Amino acid sequence: MKTIKKTIAEVARELEGAANILILSHENPDGDAIGSSIGLALGLREFGKNVVLANSTGVPERISWLEGAKEFVTQLPPLRGFDTILLLDCAERERTGFDLSGVPEERFISIDHHPNTVGVGRKVLIDTQAAATGELVLEILLEMAVRVDAKIATALYVALHTDTGGFNYSNTSRMTHMSASILIDRGVDPAAVHKHLFGNERFERVALLGKVLSTLTMELDGRVATCVVTMEMLDEVGASPEDSDDFVNYPRSIRGVEVAALLKEREEGVFRVSLRANTGVNLSLVAKKLGGGGHKKAAGATITATSLEEAKKIILASLEEALGGAAS
Ligand code: 5GP
Ligand code: MN
Repeated sequence: MKTIKKTIAEVARELEGAANILILSHENPDGDAIGSSIGLALGLREFGKNVVLANSTGVPERISWLEGAKEFVTQLPPLRGFDTILLLDCAERERTGFDLSGVPEERFISIDHHPNTVGVGRKVLIDTQAAATGELVLEILLEMAVRVDAKIATALYVALHTDTGGFNYSNTSRMTHMSASILIDRGVDPAAVHKHLFGNERFERVALLGKVLSTLTMELDGRVATCVVTMEMLDEVGASPEDSDDFVNYPRSIRGVEVAALLKEREEGVFRVSLRANTGVNLSLVAKKLGGGGHKKAAGATITATSLEEAKKIILASLEEALGGAAS
């Protein structure tokens, strides 16, 4: 904990010394990637910094109402002008979906909370105890004595809300609630945020849910539940790939299920898998072996396979190995 506090102070000092900052986050961003990026960008501007926001896949519709969401560019701007490139909610160049291979390490600073990640930059802040990157961003802004206004606070609250499943997952800590309390104090309206996030569904998304739930299967003696999303289903109801982002919570909610897997066909032969654990199995390692990554209880990967069935077999084989024979 002490070293994290020290690193937060060090990152704050680095940012105080920077002038032109590019903020990047992981591709297929979630509320934490986008919320922490916006929160930090607005905060750094209060401090007089020039800040540009980019994300290779852009802002998902669910959080497009956040102030600052329209600012994101999806092409990498020319890097010459930036003395600092921040990686948020990821700590590796590849995760951004941009080609950053030739950029010197000293130009980067990474701020993340994912385990099993190396970290790139002249400063690396990886705190796996933090429920969200937004929690770390808040600490940095407070350390810099930035005036956290309602816009910044709302972006960071969305970050916390997203990564903790509305303050419900096991990563929710006293610290998370303390951070939320600070953010509410600075002007967040929690009910309004919840309504934006979960009370504002598009018809197409709920229609897609109906199709996806009809694919529910139980595998490995009921220890694993799966659902699939095909491109055909998206077409049939006019939904977009991101519409299924949190559907994995339905198979996860079934009694006795240890791991839920949502398999999403992205293009011919390319599948994304979202994995969620209810027990101690380490999905971060499972996903890493599949070429992806994430947290112990929430991880994902992109898999190439000739068919959905083959992709499913690959995932189930990995899960069988990870779950072993041990009952939890
Ligand atoms: P989701 O299932 O929501 O896409 O991802 C769950 C978690 O795993 C998130 O924290 C996400 O950042 C991480 N994750 C998902 N896919 C990948 C991937 O391909 N590589 C890495 N390193 N992390 C991933
Ligand atoms: Mn996160």
